Amino acid sequence: MASVDLELTTFVTRKGATGILLQGFKFRKDHQTSVSINWRCCNPKCKARCKTDIEMKQITSQPSEHNHPKCDSRELDLNDVRSACKRKAVDQPTARASKIICTENKRFQNITIKDMHSIANSKEPS
Ligand SMILES: [Zn+2]
Repeated sequence: MASVDLELTTFVTRKGATGILLQGFKFRKDHQTSVSINWRCCNPKCKARCKTDIEMKQITSQPSEHNHPKCDSRELDLNDVRSACKRKAVDQPTARASKIICTENKRFQNITIKDMHSIANSKEPS
């Protein structure tokens, strides 16, 4: 068995900055030292912070408490679905987008029908 995986997913913000998804909350890079990276919650009104090692493999300081529910992950999920769809579309060229999305959507419970439509439309071949 592999060692315990961190519940830590990295993503790239619209501005191209690195972010991490941790326990359902998004953090963006605050500042970085030679040994660690400090992260702060993407919610500007929230003071939650956490710290990882420089390679983002270990959480060296658990996030402090958030003052809001985890609700911002939908957008992130959409990005994940989009890239998952792209991957699948390459693997299974004949699979219909809606079917792929349907499969993927099981992993992304937050996504609404409307979102799925927008994804389906955006990946129609031109
Ligand atoms: Zn927060």
